[in-house]
Amino acid sequence: QPSRSKSEQLYEEALKHIVGGVNSPSRSFKAVGGGAPVFMKRGQGAYFWDEDGNRYIDYLAAYGPIILGHAHPAIAEALATAAASGTLFGTPTEWEIAFARKLKAAIPSLDKVRFVNSGTEAVMTTIRVARAYTGRAKIIKFAGCYHGHSDLVLVAAGSGPSTLGIPDSAGIPVSLAHEVITVPYNDSEALQAALERWGDDVAAVMIEPIVGNFGMVAPKPGYLEQLCRMTRDNGSLVIYDEVITGFRFHYGGAQNYSLFEDHAAIEPDLTALGKIIGGGLPIGAYGGRDEIMEQVAPLGPAYQAGTMAGNPASMLCGLACLDELAKPGVYEGMERLAIKLSDGISDLAAAAGIPMTVNRIGGAFSTHFCDHPVTNYEEAQDTDSEQFAAFFRGMLKQGICLAPSKYEAWFLTLAHREADIEETLIAVKNIFNMHTKL
Ligand code: PMP
Repeated sequence: QPSRSKSEQLYEEALKHIVGGVNSPSRSFKAVGGGAPVFMKRGQGAYFWDEDGNRYIDYLAAYGPIILGHAHPAIAEALATAAASGTLFGTPTEWEIAFARKLKAAIPSLDKVRFVNSGTEAVMTTIRVARAYTGRAKIIKFAGCYHGHSDLVLVAAGSGPSTLGIPDSAGIPVSLAHEVITVPYNDSEALQAALERWGDDVAAVMIEPIVGNFGMVAPKPGYLEQLCRMTRDNGSLVIYDEVITGFRFHYGGAQNYSLFEDHAAIEPDLTALGKIIGGGLPIGAYGGRDEIMEQVAPLGPAYQAGTMAGNPASMLCGLACLDELAKPGVYEGMERLAIKLSDGISDLAAAAGIPMTVNRIGGAFSTHFCDHPVTNYEEAQDTDSEQFAAFFRGMLKQGICLAPSKYEAWFLTLAHREADIEETLIAVKNIFNMHTKL
């Protein structure tokens, strides 16, 4: 049993000064039985070390961005350049152009982009732009998809298959929640019904084209095509939240990933990006078709701004990260390891008689403790939370770090190696063996 006494002490201290002891609620261990989260001190490649000196294989990847692994030399170099030449000017820089060009080359639906500081900001602004462009107020979103913490997208489903929302957080007026309609993911009929009911009021349909927030969940064949067609027939815009999926599965967005055949039919009007594109620094970006993006100030009437937006450090690190990801074989390597690991976990679960559904897409996968497929949020909720908590804690004890939530995915990075997969599978086997003995 490794000691985590320093983490425990630091957590006690943090609780006195930082609300809940954490700067993002997803970092707390509330969903896995509580207690002190692990305080990390240093990262290198696929590993990080906590304050007590314990080493962990990292499958959290900071909830996605750390796709190159920790302290990658290309990022260190980019950061050093920014540090030496000034970190913020409040003026345009050439790096912003270089980065915008790179994003556009990788994701053809982007005619113009704008850089912001987080995924939350990117999503929030796509909604404003869609409302400005269409002159309509409501948005349709999907149960279980997470789009950051701006008011509108923190609205959850009410009861029933297609409902006006109820606030999912205190501090959001019910009147605002009435501008949001939530429908189940992977259900074209529910979307059609919502569009028929609220038609002329719907500015946009906002979706994670491949879901990363209730496990990894792919759209059913034809679903995105139908969604785009129905949404456009209604005069509404399609917004893809690619904050997790952008550059996750290949060099580009989910919208042009090989999983989908007809890219023209699934192209969104607006896209939100974040996470990976910053190479580990704070970033967000949004973009889309010219006539829509022309709504944005200073060209148009939709206001959006940012003191830190497009800052040199984020631009340089983002550029460096994309350059690494553009190298041949990078994504194939992550996928190969993800297949080995996820197949291995599936086999071990089957051998131990533990029901488990593994959804893998490229180098990311989720492990749900259940005996049914997971294609929407309801199915993801209907999984064994206690078993997940025990699994999470058992893995952590053996030096394997996952996100402390049954809804999060495992992320492979460029830094993981076969030996890491083998070590991880041994840890999984140890836990499953214990479970069957219990
Ligand atoms: N959209 C999606 C799909 C996300 O997963 C997240 C964060 N997990 C966000 C938006 C919000 O991004 P940020 O935390 O950078 O504000």
